[in-house]
Amino acid sequence: MNNANVKNVVIIGSGPAGLTAAIYAARAELKPVVLAGLTPGGQLMQTTEVENFPGFINGIMGPQLMDNMIKQAERFGAEIILENAVSADFFKKPFSVKTDKTEYLAKAVIIATGAEANWLNLESEQRLRGKGVSACATCDGFFFKDKEVAVIGGGDSAMEEANFLTKFAKKVTVIHRREEFRASKIMLERAKSNPKISFVTNAQVLEVLGEKSVEGIKIKDNATGGEKTIPIQGYFAAIGHTPTTKIFAAAGIKVDQKGYIEVLNHTRTNIEGVFVAGDVSDPRYRQAVSASGMGCMAALDMEKYLAEHEEIESKTVEQVQESKT
Ligand SMILES: Cc1cc2nc3c(=O)[nH]c(=O)nc-3n(C[C@H](O)[C@H](O)[C@H](O)COP(=O)(O)OP(=O)(O)OC[C@H]3O[C@@H](n4cnc5c(N)ncnc54)[C@H](O)[C@@H]3O)c2cc1C
Repeated sequence: MNNANVKNVVIIGSGPAGLTAAIYAARAELKPVVLAGLTPGGQLMQTTEVENFPGFINGIMGPQLMDNMIKQAERFGAEIILENAVSADFFKKPFSVKTDKTEYLAKAVIIATGAEANWLNLESEQRLRGKGVSACATCDGFFFKDKEVAVIGGGDSAMEEANFLTKFAKKVTVIHRREEFRASKIMLERAKSNPKISFVTNAQVLEVLGEKSVEGIKIKDNATGGEKTIPIQGYFAAIGHTPTTKIFAAAGIKVDQKGYIEVLNHTRTNIEGVFVAGDVSDPRYRQAVSASGMGCMAALDMEKYLAEHEEIESKTVEQVQESKT
């Protein structure tokens, strides 16, 4: 590990988790390298106002918040590199992470590559993202006070999103493509007993209607083939998320059935020296502040790991010298 090219830590991902880890690692003078991906800043680059990140009384625009985090990390010496990790080798040390251009060797790695919401991939759905189309009720529900919204999906998260949205919306319609629900009985019952929630089952979404903002949704009854329009102002996709973990699973990192990285003991993965933070390991909270919090934890765990390892390495050198005298 004496190679000057071996970095202390490579952080993969530049959302709130990766950049918070970078701020902590840089302040600990570890000169972290952040592989920021081709679209630095993560999911908050796709949004406008963020109203629940602490410290901003009047909220802050998502891209501005992420730009601040990048500058804050750089101020302490983090090196932000606009490259995508395409493969990793965690079976030997130093660890190797390759991009299209370079191979980075590191004593430790923090994976913070986030997750992406699943969509129906309708043209109208993508066009109206941020204009009434969302995949996060916790983030955007507040903007739909006294409005009518639809939640697409039939699992636990769809029921949870629907229930949560009733705090704001006057009516929530759950649209599900089958008769049977994947949601647990208790979650389904809770949604069914909520007077603000109604269900349309066995239905397929054909189009989200509206030019500048969501005005309705066109659906098709799978049994009869009949089409109808439901007026709504908010559309919430709740058909799951896909964590960005393929290259890490191939490098020996344990992931669960849905592809989320398994977390052992706070921020550790199954491979010693490889840590994880943020949405890539978190199907539950999926918030900027929780991702940042975990980024902080991963950096502190990584720092401790490096210190312990350097102690072990220096002890070994001392022991070797002792054995020579
Ligand atoms: C539209 C929208 C609005 C939201 N609004 C809010 C809100 O108001 N409040 C809130 O708390 N949360 C909000 N969220 C959720 C929040 O953005 C996420 O919880 C948070 O960004 C997760 O942070 P993260 O760092 O774990 O991952 P991400 O933000 O997903 O960042 C992951 C980063 O890793 C990079 N990456 C991926 N693969 C690679 C690779 N192979 N090599 C290098 N880099 C890679 C990506 O390019 C990305 O930059 C919103 C999400 C969306 C989509």
